[in-house]
Amino acid sequence: MTLNKYLREANLVGGEWISADSGEAIDVTNPATGELVGTVPNCGADETNRAIDAASAALAGFASMPLLERVGLLWNLHDALLDNQQSLAELLTIEQGKPLAESKGEIAIGAAYIRWFAEEIRRAKGEIVPAPTNGRRFLVTRHPVGVVGMITPWNFPSSMLARKLGPALAAGCTVVAKPATSTPYSGLAWGVLCKEAGIPKGVVNILTGSARKIGGAIMASPDVRKVTFTGSTEVGKELIRQSADTVKKVSMELGGNAPFLVFEDADLDAAVEGAMISKFRNAGQTCVCANRIYVHANVQEEFLAKLVEKTRKLKVGDGLDAGTEQGPMIDLESMKKVEAMIADATEKGAQIVLGGNRHPRGHSFFEPTILTHTTQNMRVAKEEIFGPVAPVFTFNSETEAIDMANDTEFGLCAYAYTRDIGRIFRLNEGLQYGMIGINSGLITTVEAPFGGVKESGLGKEGGSQGLDDYLDTKYTAVDF
Ligand code: ADP
Repeated sequence: MTLNKYLREANLVGGEWISADSGEAIDVTNPATGELVGTVPNCGADETNRAIDAASAALAGFASMPLLERVGLLWNLHDALLDNQQSLAELLTIEQGKPLAESKGEIAIGAAYIRWFAEEIRRAKGEIVPAPTNGRRFLVTRHPVGVVGMITPWNFPSSMLARKLGPALAAGCTVVAKPATSTPYSGLAWGVLCKEAGIPKGVVNILTGSARKIGGAIMASPDVRKVTFTGSTEVGKELIRQSADTVKKVSMELGGNAPFLVFEDADLDAAVEGAMISKFRNAGQTCVCANRIYVHANVQEEFLAKLVEKTRKLKVGDGLDAGTEQGPMIDLESMKKVEAMIADATEKGAQIVLGGNRHPRGHSFFEPTILTHTTQNMRVAKEEIFGPVAPVFTFNSETEAIDMANDTEFGLCAYAYTRDIGRIFRLNEGLQYGMIGINSGLITTVEAPFGGVKESGLGKEGGSQGLDDYLDTKYTAVDF
């Protein structure tokens, strides 16, 4: 890799790049090689409180900046992302492991989110509601919520910030962000980008270090009016509890357990294509990955044969190497969790038809894996696998498929392959999910509201709805 100007080993507070007060730093390693990429500051509550103060001080000026000027800054940010797509993608792959093509795609969708919200804020209209009597006017106007805390995960370390920063900056909010500790550089790169784009000092602050201390300070502060989090349901629940003391707005993008239904009438080649992208993208480490593949008994054999053939050909390797289709898992801990789930499944009767082991490349590389004879009582059916393991289940009727699909506390994303128009509408009504892909395994797009129901979260990101959580509605009655 050439020297990457986006690799910052410092935190951004009030427009200055700082170290931790303690001088402590955390190592960041490349999951594909185990090599040290660099270090980042191990910041805590004091630095976070200074960042919150900086964001609070910058708020009035940023919120009252003429709209077109603020929109112009977002366009600068969009252009900076695309102009530097290669450097940003390399940095992402080095710290996260995903294939370079996926990293480039992530930078591109990040830019698309920024663009979308730059466009969308121009249409964030209020209302004048008809009054029941003469001499009155009722105005409904929209205003930035204030300082926003953002806590983001390692699986999409750049674009998860894009879809939070986009609406926040468009609305005129200021930000204190904490990227995941294992992939901090793509988050810190947003600090460099924001400076390049001309975003004023203190508007975006970025801290790395102890999740508990930084998260704790964000949650405790009465000045932070909203918190947006993407990560596990477990941590999300804790943050919701913590938000009660200061009654913050919360947006939560939490875990999923996506069912992927293949009906008897499906185009099986398309279904296999969709299953591959939905399951193995990012080594199975996305919250919308197909977690449980349900196939109608009459087409199971054919579907499985095609799936095995394609999966066997997946090229596992370092994300920077040309042609790599599956990189390493994020760390050994995650890989051990996946191994434990496979062991649980085989103990309960599942069969491994492909893979099942650590990959000969070492580190946290894991073989693309397919399991059959899986049942609803196995961990692979109940929990988010977050690895390259595809359990294939069998069903015999549409009702059974929908019941099995809904048999989870999660409700993020579901997929179904069918050509029956009536069934498509029954699925739309019957599947208890925030997002549904019909004949598609890849549905994330800036124009549509991404988000779950049940224990998968609160709020939406993207779409026109993605702006709502960053704007407070104010009602003013005027008598004249
Ligand atoms: P993942 O499975 O994606 O690692 P986590 O929920 O563990 O999901 O982490 C997502 C983000 O939340 C990371 O930035 C992590 O550092 C942060 N985080 C983890 N625990 C806490 C906590 N108790 N308070 C605040 N943030 C946390």
